Amino acid sequence: MSRVRSKDTTPEMTIRRLLHRLGYRFRLHARSLPGKPDIIFAGRRKAIFVHGCFWHHHQGCAKATLPKTRTDFWQEKFDKNVQRDQRAEAELSAQGREVMTMWQCETKRTDHLKSRLVGFLGDRVSKSEPV
Ligand SMILES: [Zn+2]
Repeated sequence: MSRVRSKDTTPEMTIRRLLHRLGYRFRLHARSLPGKPDIIFAGRRKAIFVHGCFWHHHQGCAKATLPKTRTDFWQEKFDKNVQRDQRAEAELSAQGREVMTMWQCETKRTDHLKSRLVGFLGDRVSKSEPV
């Protein structure tokens, strides 16, 4: 359980499928970047994190529960994850990248997801145009 984020989680797949359908080009799991963003858009200098609500402790979210046993352990773990996320975002911003975090619970509402993605990324490049 040392790894916070696993690859190819369902929320991430949902977002990738939608991005693809919308015509955006992207790369996955940028290991060289702070926090290893899940999805990056190299030409746009933008990055998206897809966070699980439980592990990354989505504030105010029903999924971000605190287990009833070993409460201190979990609280500390969540605090660390949240701090790590904030640090990664700050480092990416310092590199001149825009960062957006998509939460697991948001991926269930396609319209909402779509408007957030398009709002963040701007106009998509048409597939018929050279990139
Ligand atoms: Zn959530």
